[in-house]
Amino acid sequence: MSDSASDVVIAGAGPYGLSTAAHLQNLGLKVRIIGEPMRFWAENMPEGMFLKSEPFASSLGAPIRGMSFTDRHPDWRVGQPIPLETFVTYGRWFASVAIPGTEDAQVVNVGRGGPGGYLVTLSTGEMIAARTVVVAVGVGPFAYVPDALAGLPSWLVSHSSAHRDLGLFAGKEVAVVGAGQSALETAVLLADAGASPHVLARTPQLDWNTVPEERRSLWTRARGGPRSGLGTGYRTWLWAERPGLVRHLPERTRRRLVRETLPPAGAWWLRDRLDERVRVSTGRHLGKVAERDDGVALTTTDRTGRRLVTEVEHVIAATGFVPDVERLTMLSPELRARVTTRLGAPVLSRDFEASVPGLYFAGLAAASTFGPVMRFVHGADFAARRIAHHIIRRTPRVRTPAGRPETALEPDIPTR
Ligand SMILES: Cc1cc2nc3c(=O)[nH]c(=O)nc-3n(C[C@H](O)[C@H](O)[C@H](O)COP(=O)(O)OP(=O)(O)OC[C@H]3O[C@@H](n4cnc5c(N)ncnc54)[C@H](O)[C@@H]3O)c2cc1C
Repeated sequence: MSDSASDVVIAGAGPYGLSTAAHLQNLGLKVRIIGEPMRFWAENMPEGMFLKSEPFASSLGAPIRGMSFTDRHPDWRVGQPIPLETFVTYGRWFASVAIPGTEDAQVVNVGRGGPGGYLVTLSTGEMIAARTVVVAVGVGPFAYVPDALAGLPSWLVSHSSAHRDLGLFAGKEVAVVGAGQSALETAVLLADAGASPHVLARTPQLDWNTVPEERRSLWTRARGGPRSGLGTGYRTWLWAERPGLVRHLPERTRRRLVRETLPPAGAWWLRDRLDERVRVSTGRHLGKVAERDDGVALTTTDRTGRRLVTEVEHVIAATGFVPDVERLTMLSPELRARVTTRLGAPVLSRDFEASVPGLYFAGLAAASTFGPVMRFVHGADFAARRIAHHIIRRTPRVRTPAGRPETALEPDIPTR
């Protein structure tokens, strides 16, 4: 039994959920979008963080003009990092203008059933009958902690996404495992907060992105390739601006692209801030990790095979996110079992639909199908357009007395 009905329920109000809702609402569909707008950005990223993406690649997808990040901030230059707060404010402004009525709740269960095809249960207890569900829960459920660290209690080991306030670590020795922007920025922010960070990286050396040029000559553009939402270069442009083509590449190539496009590296503007306050050990492979007194002893091996033990009070795993449908416990076990996956990620159609009709995945979960841009805000517009147009084509319409076509969830119509 449901309490209400909706053509579409979107789980998650981050860049992908909000963009999809904006496109769907513009096409006239009844949409329920569940989640506080930009919550992951506001609560699971550290205070003082800056975005790595350029302003032109930090826009949510809107069906109308005037809603991009650079429309909102016309003077923001290429190479000028965007503070986290500015981006959260932009996302919330987008939500308030494009999608009035986002709901500050959680989707706690999605199962097959009801007149529409799905029954969606919210944290408020409400059950919604929906024809279509868009899973736009972002990266949070997929936080990856290496096995060596996984068994330790959360007061000793945490994932980087668990922290908003790094001030909690003031005066403490903290190991940060990883070599990407998240690891390096976390380490710098820990140092700013009065902690003693120690970066332990597997890579032989830290990698840094180069300063982007605001104006590029014709020659530079011809030689280096066009600028895109993922960086410069001809191939990079393809993956960033034509993700629909990526789907046609062999699976192994797509996976390599996701792994190797924008490999772990720090933003150019962070380089000077990573100073002597941050200890960095590269070429270290994590071995045994054990609780020791009030802290953790991390055994690592260097490239010569030498074992080194680092003792700290806490370990932050800045080790990224790996999509895995099994970790989406809000999908009922029966539904999860029906979603075809490859190496944990859902196999998606050209319209982001899973093997179960009416169930769509946006964001990181779509990266193994559409490539690396799905890991970033820049992919949101493409995903939102495709999903919205597919849903609208499949949703029956009824006519209102005034003759204006409207969409409606009609209990007796099957989903396909
Ligand atoms: C530290 C860090 C820095 C980053 N910097 C950049 C950057 O500079 N540029 C860039 O393009 N990308 C960046 N990214 C990647 C970024 O996370 C993604 O690009 C972006 O968040 C994708 O949007 P999304 O909507 O898929 O996910 P999210 O922004 O994570 O939004 C998903 C939302 O769903 C909500 N949710 C989860 N489960 C449920 C549920 N059951 N019910 C309801 N709501 C739910 C979450 O609270 C969240 O608010 C960064 C990631 C991290 C971790």
